[in-house]
Amino acid sequence: MLFKQYLFMTLAYSFFTGCAAYSHDSNMMQTIQAEYHASVQISAARKMFGKVIVNEQYNPTLYAAVQEIAHQMGIKTPRVSLFKGTVFTEMMSNFAGIDFRMNAYARGLITDEITIGLTLLSHLTYKELRAVIAHELGHIKHNHSIKGLASYLGGYLAILGGEHLLRNYSVSSNMDTKKYLLINTIYTTMSTYALLIYTYKKSRDDEKTADREAFMITKNKDDLIQSLKKVKTLAHANHERSWLYRTFSTHPSIEEREEALSQLQINLTA
Ligand SMILES: [Zn+2]
Repeated sequence: MLFKQYLFMTLAYSFFTGCAAYSHDSNMMQTIQAEYHASVQISAARKMFGKVIVNEQYNPTLYAAVQEIAHQMGIKTPRVSLFKGTVFTEMMSNFAGIDFRMNAYARGLITDEITIGLTLLSHLTYKELRAVIAHELGHIKHNHSIKGLASYLGGYLAILGGEHLLRNYSVSSNMDTKKYLLINTIYTTMSTYALLIYTYKKSRDDEKTADREAFMITKNKDDLIQSLKKVKTLAHANHERSWLYRTFSTHPSIEEREEALSQLQINLTA
């Protein structure tokens, strides 16, 4: 009898705590959505290039989530915005068959900013949203925008420098013009591809770094992986398996990212 009672209590308890966790999660998302809809009605709310700037006053719930994670990460809270798109985005979306609002991104050249697409926001649970925010803040923490641009420009200047040396050499050694043009074409083509491949590889490494930062906040790989899967089903089709796509891809495949995060989870529990 006592055992049955105990069993019933345990089941009831886990059922209700499960429900409570779920309803907290969906309540948070409903509040964030409601605050967004209220904020776009307010003319004082800042809207630009299809984005609505999220602030403490009009979007306290979403802003607080970003603030809390930025604090945990030890960085300043960047500007936060929601991307609702413009007529142009709508046209491009219809043309390409991709919903550009089904994504989130970070940029940090002049001002640090994270942007979350509205479609993505409406598909995420609160836990997944936190993982997405943490991932984007990870990019800001590691200055990926500036470093990416600097390495690309640096590589480009190095290619130009090499071309200059080659030209000088061809003049000083009286190289035949045809031979010079051939060598020059091979050099510029090869080095441009090498730079592109390097840039894409760097970008994929940056994604994994941002994933690691997100994992340090959520301590759980599934929230991020779930959100990535949601992005992929709506934004990317089945390109990921081809060698060409992977080589010229700015993001590692979800399987690769899940594998790297699994390693972290093992290290954390070991
Ligand atoms: Zn990223």
